[in-house]
Amino acid sequence: MTTENSAPVSGSIMVVGGGISGLTTALEAAEVGYEVFLIEKEASLGGRVTQLKHYFPKLCPPTCGLEINYRRLKDNKNIKVYTLSEVQNVDGTPGDYTVTVKSTPRYVNSNCTCCGECEKVCETEISNEFNFGMNRRKAAYLPHNMAFPQRYVMDSAMGKDDREKVKEACKYNAIDFSMEESTFDLKVGAVVFTTGWQPYDATRIDNLGFGRYQNIITNMMLERLASSNGPTEGKIIRPSDDKAPETIAFAQCAGSRDENHLPYCSYICCLASLKHATYIRAQYPDAKIYIYYIDLRTPGRKYENFYAKLKADENVFFVKGKVAEVSEESGTGNINLVAEDTISGEKIRQTVDMLVLATGMQPTCAIDKPAADLTFDDEGFIINDFSKGGLFAAGCANKPADVVTSNQNATGMALKAIQTLRR
Ligand SMILES: Cc1cc2nc3c(=O)[nH]c(=O)nc-3n(C[C@H](O)[C@H](O)[C@H](O)COP(=O)(O)OP(=O)(O)OC[C@H]3O[C@@H](n4cnc5c(N)ncnc54)[C@H](O)[C@@H]3O)c2cc1C
Ligand code: SF4
Ligand code: SF4
Repeated sequence: MTTENSAPVSGSIMVVGGGISGLTTALEAAEVGYEVFLIEKEASLGGRVTQLKHYFPKLCPPTCGLEINYRRLKDNKNIKVYTLSEVQNVDGTPGDYTVTVKSTPRYVNSNCTCCGECEKVCETEISNEFNFGMNRRKAAYLPHNMAFPQRYVMDSAMGKDDREKVKEACKYNAIDFSMEESTFDLKVGAVVFTTGWQPYDATRIDNLGFGRYQNIITNMMLERLASSNGPTEGKIIRPSDDKAPETIAFAQCAGSRDENHLPYCSYICCLASLKHATYIRAQYPDAKIYIYYIDLRTPGRKYENFYAKLKADENVFFVKGKVAEVSEESGTGNINLVAEDTISGEKIRQTVDMLVLATGMQPTCAIDKPAADLTFDDEGFIINDFSKGGLFAAGCANKPADVVTSNQNATGMALKAIQTLRR
């Protein structure tokens, strides 16, 4: 593509991670004419936002925005998407990188119509990671109803008998178990890492009882419970007995701002708990919600207004205290909690039906470091070194962020990648 006063567009850009940040970077670069390789390790694009019911503060479903991005992606011949793929190595210098990519087979080709017949006959069931293990899924599965690409996956855990059954059930000749893992090189001028975040492992926060008591869940589990495509089809119920909760507490900063866990503020979990209060209020108008916090961080006018709305709600109570201890009430499954009042230092005791841990974000790179010449901070976020150039990070690979900030950052890094190619 050429425009007046501009040099011809040449060279390719790689984006590693197909969440909302990766989609934005890829689309912004591709829509001004650059060839983009988008590498996603999961079977579907969209990343973590596909697991959310609503976005704060507008409370709209993330699927709306994703659908628009998927349409832009389908319309754009410049983007080549590789799902079930990971980068093995990045070699070279700005403007001239060789990236080694490994792809694992989906065992399903483009003939798939998502008819679901393979799923019906498949007997192998696996814990459903998309719903944080709160239900099980078949080994022949569609990651979720908004998956992109809309194409089934045959899990490698599927046994021989099931493989025969699913093949027989497929009337479209879409299942192909001869597909193999492949490793290949791609030449690009710049790479943008948008590998995002993982929920902090709540089992590591010993004093908050996650994993020991069934009615203590994480904020991301609550997102899945509240989502119509989640394990309870949108009903927020207690894991121990499916009871509708009448009192729910939130423990803010669960593992964040804590030298023993994540020393930084995760930025989004105050707003996420406020949003979760709206989910609960919509389902259970009489439920009482208690938010235990150190400080409430709701930066900017829109987020402050959102907080003000919840503050005015007579069933939402804000308690300035950090939850320090939890136990289970014998026979009821209720949760006893003890919090320290951060001003008086006094102990507050309360028993609730359910406790939600507002766990924070850990960069994926802290757990799975890319083999590339990148600089990381002590927590595993990628630091953008613009003097070196060539390799960049956007979204939650770079810092804890909401979607708006991630998208702004992702657009900026598309520009940095383009500048590398044009130097
Ligand atoms: C409880 C909770 C609620 C939230 N609610 C909201 C909200 O209402 N509004 C809002 O604005 N924000 C919300 N957020 C924040 C929002 O989830 C993030 O801003 C958003 O997910 C950032 O997108 P991302 O693309 O940077 O990362 P991710 O969504 O994590 O996407 C990263 C992608 O990269 C892929 N990937 C990772 N490693 C590799 C690799 N090595 N190779 C290839 N691919 C890889 C992943 O599979 C994933 O698809 C919430 C967060 C939490 C914890
Ligand atoms: S793989 Fe075949 S049977 Fe399964 S959903 Fe796709 S078309 Fe249907
Ligand atoms: S956003 Fe709120 S809950 Fe999350 S770490 Fe920061 S202060 Fe704590």
